[in-house]
Amino acid sequence: MTTLTKDTITGLAARAVGVTKAYGTGPAAVVALDEVSVDVHRGRFTAIMGPSGSGKSTLMHCLAGLDTVDTGEVWIGETELGGLNDRGLADLRRNRVGFIFQQFNLLPTLSAEENITLPLAIAGRKADPEWFGRVVDAVGLADRLTHRPSELSGGQQQRVACARALLPKPDVIFADEPTGNLDSGSSTEILRFLRRSVEEFAQTIVMVTHDANAAAYADRVVFLLDGRLVHELSDPDAEAVLDTMKALDTLGA
Ligand code: ADP
Repeated sequence: MTTLTKDTITGLAARAVGVTKAYGTGPAAVVALDEVSVDVHRGRFTAIMGPSGSGKSTLMHCLAGLDTVDTGEVWIGETELGGLNDRGLADLRRNRVGFIFQQFNLLPTLSAEENITLPLAIAGRKADPEWFGRVVDAVGLADRLTHRPSELSGGQQQRVACARALLPKPDVIFADEPTGNLDSGSSTEILRFLRRSVEEFAQTIVMVTHDANAAAYADRVVFLLDGRLVHELSDPDAEAVLDTMKALDTLGA
């Protein structure tokens, strides 16, 4: 039976409320996030877009508990991150969020299977064999599990990273330019897999990207400009995303 909690009722997997974040102090300070509020809906795919330097990475890092905010609140489910000490934050990153990076970040000496199960092993948890099988099938890696990363293509390595993120069933997977290092065929595979994780496994995904085609796989795209959330699109197509990006480039220039 599912326990009914406030976050199942509100349907929010994560949330930023009035978040401000600056780097440096005094006249040299750079405001990376300026009063940003955003809701991340459970079981949906949200993309964060904006010109270079608009605050996308900073927002993702703050939402994922990788960085702290100056003012405002960040929530993962019912947990407000500002109330956690270092240990609580480390726990949250280990158990409740998953990451997919542009550079895959696999451990070179471990096999694909060991890479996939590593976060669970670190958290002292064991993979449910049936769920492991489903995840590995979904990324099409069943016959590659004993391979090391150097024996896999870039696309296959990123599929290992996707399986690694999905296996612990985190509240949210944060993907930082997950296709930035891939050719278009492999990019499509990864984006289809992310979409499928949302549809089939009800996984919540937040993806930072500057690629309109990638963002079009999301249910919703939020746009940042100069550290402010300035626009959003629901069920976007690539053309609408591109048009918005062009408008933001003009505004930013
Ligand atoms: P994006 O991901 O959209 O390119 P970022 O979040 O990386 O934007 O950066 C937002 C702003 O904060 C930029 O002006 C950037 O130069 C600045 N910034 C980001 N990280 C740092 C840092 N560690 N030290 C100083 N300034 C930073």
